[in-house]
Amino acid sequence: MIRSPLSPVCAHMARPATNIAILGSTGSIGRNTLEVIEVSGGALRAVALSAHRNVALLAEQARRVRPRWIVVTDAAAARDHDWSGLPAGVDLLVGPEGIARVTSDADVDIVVSAIVGSAGLDGTWCALEAGKTVALANKESLVVAGPLVMDLAHRRQAQILPVDSEHSAVFQAMQAGHRGEVRRVILTASGGPFRTYTTEQLARVSVAEALAHPTWEMGPKITIDSATLMNKALEIVEARWLFGLRSDQIEVVLHPQSIVHSMVEFVDGSVLAQLSPPDMKLPIQYALTWPRRTPGVAAKLDWGRAVELRFEPPDFERFGALKLGLEVARQGGTAGAVLNGANEAAVAAFLDGRLAFHDIVPACRDILENHPFDPSPSLDRVLELDRWARQEVLRWMRA
Ligand code: MG
Repeated sequence: MIRSPLSPVCAHMARPATNIAILGSTGSIGRNTLEVIEVSGGALRAVALSAHRNVALLAEQARRVRPRWIVVTDAAAARDHDWSGLPAGVDLLVGPEGIARVTSDADVDIVVSAIVGSAGLDGTWCALEAGKTVALANKESLVVAGPLVMDLAHRRQAQILPVDSEHSAVFQAMQAGHRGEVRRVILTASGGPFRTYTTEQLARVSVAEALAHPTWEMGPKITIDSATLMNKALEIVEARWLFGLRSDQIEVVLHPQSIVHSMVEFVDGSVLAQLSPPDMKLPIQYALTWPRRTPGVAAKLDWGRAVELRFEPPDFERFGALKLGLEVARQGGTAGAVLNGANEAAVAAFLDGRLAFHDIVPACRDILENHPFDPSPSLDRVLELDRWARQEVLRWMRA
């Protein structure tokens, strides 16, 4: 059968593969991204992978995927590994300079920014500086330096596509209207494992309990953030910058099933939602194939079974992190960097058994309230306050 050169099938066949650099390929988002790429039938190709210390998994990924580059940002971890099994044609780059090298390469089309914590800001920054499309899983890039990151993207005409499931849902729903027609955005939150706990029960939460999330499988840091609802607080700030919203245009609603990933309410009162089972492969794939949609491996909803969707307003007293998120979104400036730095240090202390679960949010609040606020800081100042906030958590714990 002869097809005209303009037929959609031919157009699809002729499209060159999209070359992808995955920063943080050994984490949960990175592993899911590789799964999405592997089933794309060659439309998507991983050309660079990076890891900090998990070199064993990185080496295994390199043997399977055969990228052009792998980056190990921790020099000691790279030195201690035997790389003799690395396939020919795969270049090993060591140290943070490797991130700058691969994100700026002319052959890279999309950079997946999936390093956990404020450590991910550097990769996002390098990619935007190089004018690359960034599939953003690292919400901290926007929490810590939202206005600076958005300004850089604007100057370099670089696109930021959300991978965070809530922001992907908002991004998808927003396409039903114009930005000026958006009344508010409603972020859904599963509520984590302690949604129904009393304040007394929250005071006795153990590390093992906090690491068991009812609907999402994620790394330890974000799982703890989901239990305190700090993850939702960071997502409020992320949405504020990514979509250019005012803080009073962002609402949070608890939705334990994690099927509605977020909603957009337009000025006429119409609400659009995006639904799918909790599976990160869908928002990852959407960011990698946008503006198209393709068949994929993400789980599908089964409408042959009864589906119950429940929504309830959050308790801002029991989950004080939400108040902090709204406050930081309202303040802007250095507030996001301080909240995030304090929270990263507090979560690390909790996981080490040095801080109680119910002290994570109060520690963050005290440090946020007592920081030298600057409404329009430089990137250096923001990074300085990120380090300061971490030190303050140690002081708070001694006090
Ligand atoms: Mg999320």
